[in-house]
Amino acid sequence: MKFLVTGGAGFIGSHYVRDLLAARFPGTAGCEVTVLDKLTYAANLDNLPLSDPRLTFVQGDICDAEMLSALLPGHDAVVHFAAESHVDRSLADGTPFVTTNVLGTQILLNACARAGVGRFLHVSTDEVYGSLLQGSWTEDTLLEPNSPYAASKAASDLMARAYWRSSDVEVSITRCSNNYGTHQFIEKLIPLFVTNLLDGLDVPLYGDGHHVREWLHVRDHCRAVHLVLTEGRGGEIYNISAGTELTNRELTERLLALCGADWSRVRQVPDRTAHDERYSVDTSKIREELGFAPEVPLEEGLTEVVAWYRDNRAWWEPLRARAALSV
Ligand code: NAD
Repeated sequence: MKFLVTGGAGFIGSHYVRDLLAARFPGTAGCEVTVLDKLTYAANLDNLPLSDPRLTFVQGDICDAEMLSALLPGHDAVVHFAAESHVDRSLADGTPFVTTNVLGTQILLNACARAGVGRFLHVSTDEVYGSLLQGSWTEDTLLEPNSPYAASKAASDLMARAYWRSSDVEVSITRCSNNYGTHQFIEKLIPLFVTNLLDGLDVPLYGDGHHVREWLHVRDHCRAVHLVLTEGRGGEIYNISAGTELTNRELTERLLALCGADWSRVRQVPDRTAHDERYSVDTSKIREELGFAPEVPLEEGLTEVVAWYRDNRAWWEPLRARAALSV
């Protein structure tokens, strides 16, 4: 099998690539992987085992149709992680989000259809559903995105479905909750808080921290993505999460404890515009149809993450300037 992974130098994509090359998924021993990544501020080539002869890295933009038409032939499947992914940046300027997430996804799907790529997994997010106070979203719930990031992902989901319906590409879509794990760029909540605490800095908590998120370890997300790629049905959407809900305040308390700090290090900052109150996805479909079950308990995963950032300063210290927006 030959896979093309877009956004494979980012957080989740690079975990997926390393898992593929290490044959952590059934049937992937000896597979070949092409990573296509524009190398935006969020990418890090140190995330990839570039010396592996089964890995080919291509720096390029999913909006470049000419490059794609030359690159795609010969690949059995495309796993599409590439995106502008940070909500706060989308609130400052949504334009790059529409360009990469909507237009880029359409150009990529178009190129796949022309190159005869048979299988396409579009990685999306629970944020497309909006916000809810009680209950959980199923895959059929109305999309009510509240940020330019979420709206651009929702639009890309619709484009993915349209190409499934109107071309020969078997497209499936996954919508996952918040991920956490090693190698995550330090603008996102968990790595930002952990690296600040390790450096003796305060952590910026939005409002009173009552917003609720579900957290899934990135290894579990990657397993679910591969499961949908290999066993999921074309034209279908699969929600993914571990069902582990925490308020941002509760998460902050856990990170403080793991870093040996207390609440005096928390600096409450004005709430994010249109901040979604709560996300919760119903994962019955992927559990019952594909037998997916998350494996990494939150406490164990968070402990691993804090230890990794503590032991890998050389990975994240040079990124401080690039992450300045969120600090
Ligand atoms: P990330 O920001 O860490 O990585 C994104 C990668 O895409 C980067 O390497 C970047 O260089 C690349 N990229 C951006 N624009 C590109 C373009 N035009 N052409 C080629 N490459 C480009 O993001 P992530 O957190 O790893 O998220 C990956 C995917 O998973 C995204 O589609 C995101 O919407 C989705 N997702 C993320 C989470 C989460 O909690 N991080 C949760 C659910 C879904």
